[in-house]
Amino acid sequence: MKTIRTTSAMADWSRRLHREGVTIGFVPTMGALHEGHRALIRAARLACDAVVVSIFVNPTQFGPTEDLAKYPRQLRLDRALCLKEGVDVIFAPTAEAMYPAGFQTIVAVPNLARLWEGEARPHHFQGVATVVTKLLSLVQPDIAWFGQKDFQQAAVVRQLAQDLNLPGKLVVHPTVRESDGLALSSRNVYLSVHERKTAPVLYRALQAGAAAIRGGERRGLHIQRLMARTVTAERSVTPEYLAVCDPSTLQPLQTVQRHAILLGAIRLGAVRLLDNVPVTIRPQS
Ligand code: AMP
Repeated sequence: MKTIRTTSAMADWSRRLHREGVTIGFVPTMGALHEGHRALIRAARLACDAVVVSIFVNPTQFGPTEDLAKYPRQLRLDRALCLKEGVDVIFAPTAEAMYPAGFQTIVAVPNLARLWEGEARPHHFQGVATVVTKLLSLVQPDIAWFGQKDFQQAAVVRQLAQDLNLPGKLVVHPTVRESDGLALSSRNVYLSVHERKTAPVLYRALQAGAAAIRGGERRGLHIQRLMARTVTAERSVTPEYLAVCDPSTLQPLQTVQRHAILLGAIRLGAVRLLDNVPVTIRPQS
């Protein structure tokens, strides 16, 4: 397994492998790898000849008051996980390599980025869109994997890849959860013991919304209130949003028809948790 630090070495490596007819699978991450990342890496390992994992805590997607400085960094542990999973290349550039002096281009996907996470974190998605565009153009993967856990991010990436005619296919992998339903996240390490016990309430609320839809409820507002009641039953939780949305546009749905995505974010102490649950109503036969 190789660790590549510079953009030019990354681009050279990919170009050489493509010339040799090798297919490249890519999993972009910010490191502090967990079982969710491992699942994406395994899917890439199964589908492609060579696997690249990027580990880059991208400064441009953090707001000025956010946790960039204390975001967990553990390259040695991450390297061990990647080695075990048969990764070929870890691409771990420095911020200076990705954003050299004079850098000024921004990729924005304004409509999909406006609501939900975009409201809470105003410049977040343009940071994500810009870095993902750079990573995809450096690695030139045949297939890149993203997690459903970050549903809005996956939607933004799908849109930019389509709009900018980026080559390769994108695959969204289902969310990997703890046994009590909490979605795995590198930020879960910040949770206190009590907060960790409370945290699955977000998934429970989204599941309650999904169950209501499956039980025949179609009114978006009603489902949203049901989810909000579930999270606020826990006094230590501050809800940020709980929403019933169209999975393609991410706009709130007044009435659920065939497909919906239930999106949620809560605050538990200093930690923000986000999650989502997709719902499809089967037509009655
Ligand atoms: P991050 O390192 O948090 O930026 O995540 C890197 C990739 O892993 C993103 O595409 C995430 O959506 C994905 N990911 C993070 N957590 C999970 C999870 N619990 N299940 C599946 N994918 C995940």
